[in-house]
Amino acid sequence: MSGIGVRKNDFVIVTSGKEKGKKGKILKVARDKNRVIIEKVNFIKKHQKPASAQKQGGIVEKEGQIHASNVMLFCEKCNKGVRFRRQRLDDGNVVRLCAGCGESFD
Ligand SMILES: [Zn+2]
Repeated sequence: MSGIGVRKNDFVIVTSGKEKGKKGKILKVARDKNRVIIEKVNFIKKHQKPASAQKQGGIVEKEGQIHASNVMLFCEKCNKGVRFRRQRLDDGNVVRLCAGCGESFD
């Protein structure tokens, strides 16, 4: 099992670093690097090459990656970042439940 417990479209909160306290939806998970990209969090400036002779290049702001250990699933009910536990359902599917209130994330 990989160390990353979060998935694309999960709603998470950043728990450390300069973006601490920010919340957002996961846009992308880079499982091999243990990093995630969160919507509207950790904007970095990127230089973009001109797409064509007619179109100018320039600096664009884009979400940068954040290490997965710096984010937690955000539970609306608990109103904070929470740990989760896995539970296997009768149909064989595994769901993630909030360790605090038992709410399902899946
Ligand atoms: Zn909860």
